[in-house]
Amino acid sequence: MISKVWLRAALLLLFPAALSAQPLAVSVEQMRRHIEVLASDAFEGREPGTEGENKTLRYIAGQFQEIGLEPAAGDGDWYQPVPLVERTPFGHLALWASKGAPVEFDRKDIVFLGTEARETTNDAPVWFVGQALPEQLAGVNLDGAVALILYDAPEGAPGYSKRAEALTKAGAAAVIAIMGDDIPWPAVTGSYKRGQTKLGTDSRAPITGAMALGAGERLVRTGGGDVASARAIAFRPVPLDLTASLDVSTQVRPYTSHNVIGRLSGSGETGESVLYLGHWDHLGICRPESAKDRICNGAVDNASGIAMLIEIARAVADGPRPVRDLLFMGTTAEEMGLLGAEYFGAHPTVPLETLVAAINIDTVAIAGAGEPVAIVGRGTTPLDPLVDATARALGRAVDTDTEANAFVQRQDGWVLTRAGVPTVMVGGSFANMKILEDFLRGPYHKPGDDLDRPLVLEGAAEDTELLIALGRKLADPEEYQPRR
Ligand SMILES: [Zn+2]
Repeated sequence: MISKVWLRAALLLLFPAALSAQPLAVSVEQMRRHIEVLASDAFEGREPGTEGENKTLRYIAGQFQEIGLEPAAGDGDWYQPVPLVERTPFGHLALWASKGAPVEFDRKDIVFLGTEARETTNDAPVWFVGQALPEQLAGVNLDGAVALILYDAPEGAPGYSKRAEALTKAGAAAVIAIMGDDIPWPAVTGSYKRGQTKLGTDSRAPITGAMALGAGERLVRTGGGDVASARAIAFRPVPLDLTASLDVSTQVRPYTSHNVIGRLSGSGETGESVLYLGHWDHLGICRPESAKDRICNGAVDNASGIAMLIEIARAVADGPRPVRDLLFMGTTAEEMGLLGAEYFGAHPTVPLETLVAAINIDTVAIAGAGEPVAIVGRGTTPLDPLVDATARALGRAVDTDTEANAFVQRQDGWVLTRAGVPTVMVGGSFANMKILEDFLRGPYHKPGDDLDRPLVLEGAAEDTELLIALGRKLADPEEYQPRR
């Protein structure tokens, strides 16, 4: 009789797909333990700038160190400081005038934030700049002006913050967005009132703000402009017959958060790296004191991704050394708008052109075993063929549609892809839209995304194996060369 071991070896030779049936090298229990720490109430929902951040950073760096990674944030440090500023409206006066006569404007239809605690304009000229597309702004001088910009722009146009930044560069003293009607106005004012956090390094106009659509249309009309005309391709920004005296008070709270970064040096001295990243932050204490459960623990979003990041690092470090370096980064302030990743993109700890690829890991503990492999960002990088081949070699089915791309702009990888580092998010959690949408409609961003829910980690364990194999290939110059 053939021994069990021999039988198994023989079967593996005959049926390579049977590989997936062998016990997973990545332990579900180990991932569960990380999540149980990171999503515990003691970590208070991992909000940047809180004691929850300190605990989270220490935990991740501690794991990195135990695994044998080196600190890689620069100067022998694990932590890359990320300067953040939280701004909350604290009151305003706004006087609009046309031909010397005051123009009535309901103060409930506008919200403001100042860059500093108090910002003012005195009889500033008001311009209607429409969608402020780059080709429309050529040669426009907005020195000291209040610029009214449409928040929405045609598909494919630069995002709002890019267009607003161009107005700041053109000299605007205030940039005020006329909102579309797709977001209810109370939702806009609500988000301002809760406070807005941005990178401390952002270039921004002294005053920024938003205006309800109807009120904006009336104001532009009073000044002799027409909001509808801005949709025309040949639109040019127009000075309105309007001035604005604004006096804006803002609570400004600068603070520092951190990305945490470790390196596993490759065997090849290639000067090139592959980056794995996942955001460590979540929403903190997110309900009022009266609530029964006040903490948004973020067990799935994204303690699960950090657990996977750590276990990938451990498995790769325990195996044969890859040729290129591997970097492992926990990013901060993803929930505030991908800010930690954005800061890393602008202040990378290795030259960006030496990062040959990156894999982002977010919200991975929702799918069971056996889901096909989807790519968030399919078609946006040259990595698809390698991802698909790696998945198939592990016996996984591949989901080749682009449904998951609905999430591509909602994750850190997007920032890196735009900065020129091809980045994908890969796995079974984004293949089955029913599972994903049930999570998003359910506990997502609520106190319910916590340890009281059963953690589904079987799919995550499979995805971990896949991301290890994928990272190894990306780190091998014979398997993968970046397009330059
Ligand atoms: Zn989130």
